Amino acid sequence: MKKVIRLSSDVTNKIAAGEVIERPASVIKELIENSIDAGSGKIEIHITEGGKEKIQIIDDGHGMSREDALLSLERFTTSKINQFDDLEGLSTFGFRGEALASIASVSIIEIKTKTPEDKEGIFLRAEGGKNVSEKEISWHRGTSITVNSLFYNTPARRKFQKNAQSETRQIYRVVRYFSLAYPDLHFSLYNGDKLIWKLTPANIKKRIDEIFDNRSISENLIEVSYTDPVFKLNGYISVPEFTRSTRNDQYLFLNKRFIKNRTADHGIYQGYSTTLSHGPGHPFYILLLEMPSDKF
Ligand code: ADP
Ligand code: MG
Repeated sequence: MKKVIRLSSDVTNKIAAGEVIERPASVIKELIENSIDAGSGKIEIHITEGGKEKIQIIDDGHGMSREDALLSLERFTTSKINQFDDLEGLSTFGFRGEALASIASVSIIEIKTKTPEDKEGIFLRAEGGKNVSEKEISWHRGTSITVNSLFYNTPARRKFQKNAQSETRQIYRVVRYFSLAYPDLHFSLYNGDKLIWKLTPANIKKRIDEIFDNRSISENLIEVSYTDPVFKLNGYISVPEFTRSTRNDQYLFLNKRFIKNRTADHGIYQGYSTTLSHGPGHPFYILLLEMPSDKF
């Protein structure tokens, strides 16, 4: 008979990584989320080879103490649980405390961080989540996380990655989501040494102008603003005459997190009712829905 064994944390981290981290863009999503959660005003993103070789996110958030930085690499560690009185709210916001551990388990990760209270910063390096080395460094406020050689130790996953160009496109998409949901933050994105976007705080409309190549988008938008006892809806939708050939430029955010929702999509198309049926196109929209998590 086979014996029941307990899986090592090395194995369980890799399993979790398989669920949370699909590709470089998912790493970027998790890291930007963490930077935003840390109260950052400026977020700088660097990628090499579609993020497969290297991803670096530098923020000016509240940083981590040495103890917290070491803990953050372990699974189910989070500093965010006391922000919520219910577990449901916590998980809805994706605070599961496993992103960083998952990313670390399938890459060579380097963290530089400092809190405003600490004099020195801390540098941590781990390979596949193990052999953690550390040293004190001089560092400004905030955190830099570098993810090298993603999936280097999970060959099947590595092989599954698309070419750099296609991974790059996904990354631009993710950065675009965040920049739309957080127009009040600075974002800069570098691909190799090429600067792709440098966004300073603006309103949504200016952001749309800056991050879409098509300048005519912002000239064809209608502002939406609606307040209900349960939810608030804000954003822009395109006029019926202005359509896109795909559904790619439809951005729906629930409490600033990007979501896909068929019911909402259906409602929006219904709103256009007969006006859209004249052409084959799809509306462009950016809608931000704010709702308390117990009302989902
Ligand atoms: P979660 O975001 O669900 O808490 P993560 O694994 O993404 O879990 O991060 C673990 C913890 O590491 C966070 O709760 C936070 O305390 C800390 N952390 C991660 N990234 C940053 C950052 N950029 N700045 C400050 N703290 C961070
Ligand atoms: Mg997180």
